[in-house]
Amino acid sequence: MTIKVDFRSDTVTKPGPGMLDAMFGAKVGDDVLGEDPTVHQLENKLAAMFNMEAGLFCPSGTMTNQVAIKCHTLPMDEVICDQRSHVYRYEAGGIAYHSMASVRLLDGERGILTPELIEPEINGEDIHYPNSTLVVLENTVNRGGGACYHLSQIEHIHTLCNIKNLKLHLDGARIFNALIATGDHAKDYGKYFDSISVCLSKGLGAPVGSVLLGSNELINKAVKVRKAFGGGMRQAGFLAAAGIYALDSNIDRLAVDHQHALALADALHQVSYVSSILPVVTNIVVFEVAKGFKASTIVHDLLAKGIACSSTGPNTIRMVTHLDISSEMIEMAIQNIIHLYPSANK
Ligand SMILES: *Cc1c(COP(=O)(O)O)cnc(C)c1O
Repeated sequence: MTIKVDFRSDTVTKPGPGMLDAMFGAKVGDDVLGEDPTVHQLENKLAAMFNMEAGLFCPSGTMTNQVAIKCHTLPMDEVICDQRSHVYRYEAGGIAYHSMASVRLLDGERGILTPELIEPEINGEDIHYPNSTLVVLENTVNRGGGACYHLSQIEHIHTLCNIKNLKLHLDGARIFNALIATGDHAKDYGKYFDSISVCLSKGLGAPVGSVLLGSNELINKAVKVRKAFGGGMRQAGFLAAAGIYALDSNIDRLAVDHQHALALADALHQVSYVSSILPVVTNIVVFEVAKGFKASTIVHDLLAKGIACSSTGPNTIRMVTHLDISSEMIEMAIQNIIHLYPSANK
């Protein structure tokens, strides 16, 4: 079956002509020797946007997250994060493998943590306990259906981390979706985090890459950790150019993806094979299928109509909107959602 509309992830986008032109025209050099001007331009641009000192271009968001965790922890330390966190669930056990740290999992509302949830889980001085050294937040929360933090919530968590001497990392794979949804400004983020990872290959539509942001000291350390992870790249400016183009062209339009996600949710509200939908705030729609239906069957039947989405559990389905989904495609998907089972309209 050929896919006509691909809601599986916002990672499936392909570079368009403008982005490809920018890539082909990039000035490059050997970035392991620190000589790629386009990589430097991307790193400096993002650092300035988020009011941080420095940036480091990596092949993936998994790498920026894991490099950050490695830099912030020692073996036997403990990382505090929500149980839905990408760093815990979807990075192949990297925290244990790379950093030899343990993880304390919390259960925030849709993955959103609060100082009240975090504080009791911070270990005190005791020979039995691992040292709590790092809190990781995710904004937006992927497995939380694209839920996002407002800056004021982050400020309170930052205050707690400061008092308790914990570092604070942001997995900002979809940070620009959060900024568009909340109206918060990237510039205000720098002062609250010790490190931020920003993905270029999600909603921004670049083919590859993520940038880790932090202090000069942190990034100097991270360069070496990236090398040890095998992430030192040579003429990476061709890829960085796609990232620069994406930052210049594809941020404001994320609002369209959010409108598309809302339109999908409206359609899903009209059919009886859906029992509930997480309120849509960004570009992710997560819904539960009604009793008597199986997520895998619905995914299969939608695919037969050319609409690809993914089941995230036996009863849950996820749809993600992105740059390569037009309003016409949303309209087509909505018609198919509504008429998937002729007897299933509310
Ligand atoms: C996609 C994603 C990442 C990074 O994934 P890569 O595929 O390694 O680039 C990190 N965090 C979240 C929340 C994500 O959705």
